[in-house]
Amino acid sequence: MACAARRALRNRELRLHYQPKFDMVTRRLVGAEALIRWEHPDEGLLSPMEFIPLAERSGLIVPIGAWALNEACRQAQTWRRAGLDDFHVAVNLSAVQFKHADLLETVSEALDGANLPAEALELEITESMLIDQGGDPGGTLAALTMRGVHLSIDDFGTGYSSLSYLKRFPVNVIKIDRSFTADLGDKQDALVIVRAIIGLGHSLGLRVVAEGVETQAQLDLLAAEGCDFAQGYLLGRPLPVTDFERTFVPVTAF
Ligand code: C2E
Ligand code: CA
Ligand code: CA
Repeated sequence: MACAARRALRNRELRLHYQPKFDMVTRRLVGAEALIRWEHPDEGLLSPMEFIPLAERSGLIVPIGAWALNEACRQAQTWRRAGLDDFHVAVNLSAVQFKHADLLETVSEALDGANLPAEALELEITESMLIDQGGDPGGTLAALTMRGVHLSIDDFGTGYSSLSYLKRFPVNVIKIDRSFTADLGDKQDALVIVRAIIGLGHSLGLRVVAEGVETQAQLDLLAAEGCDFAQGYLLGRPLPVTDFERTFVPVTAF
């Protein structure tokens, strides 16, 4: 499989799908999350869950991640030029990439290669990435945010109860995990947690994204709670480039 994944990279079998993200107040499209897929010649479209863990173990995630960064930055700039002003792209980072010495350089090359302003790139990391490595030993996160790149904490609320890292690291965005979104409307606890996350985020000056929004009731509750952005099947599934363009460029409101 590791060999096959290497071939996938070489043979250009990897794809990025883009899931739209909307501003809850203006209801306009603001950006997209890039989600990787492997168009396997025999097995069809493979989900990242099927090959990312393996690519992490073999170290192949480093070149795959660099490819994803380059591709996402290039695509975001193409759409900005096509009229999606201020469009930004969010790219998922693996812990392995985070530990790798060249991350800052890889990100800089992707931005420069695409001529994309750093503010238009958001890197999604998880709580465990910040905690397990004892923070940001090489100062990579600090350097990335100095350059203008935004940092987002993915799956927020699922990892750790320690929140001190939110003060210590230059985080811009937190993403409410989709398990909380899913229970909104059914379970009172979920609403209490979501309200607390939004309150916490806002008091720290962060923007809050809800992921996994599947119903209008969830969207309405999130809007009522002051959540800033929303992503989910209700608003748009992750789409291949051509479908994303057909749906969202240049119509940018839902
Ligand atoms: P994630 O970053 O938490 O991404 C969100 C996942 O939820 C995506 O699954 C997305 O397709 C799915 N999703 C979005 N909206 C909804 C919804 O309304 N309902 C439900 N049930 N699901 C929704 P996907 O694309 O299979 O990605 C799975 C995970 O793979 C991602 O989780 C991320 O951790 C990882 N991943 C994806 N692309 C990359 C990449 O380029 N690099 C790295 N390192 N990891 C990636
Ligand atoms: Ca993500
Ligand atoms: Ca997530």
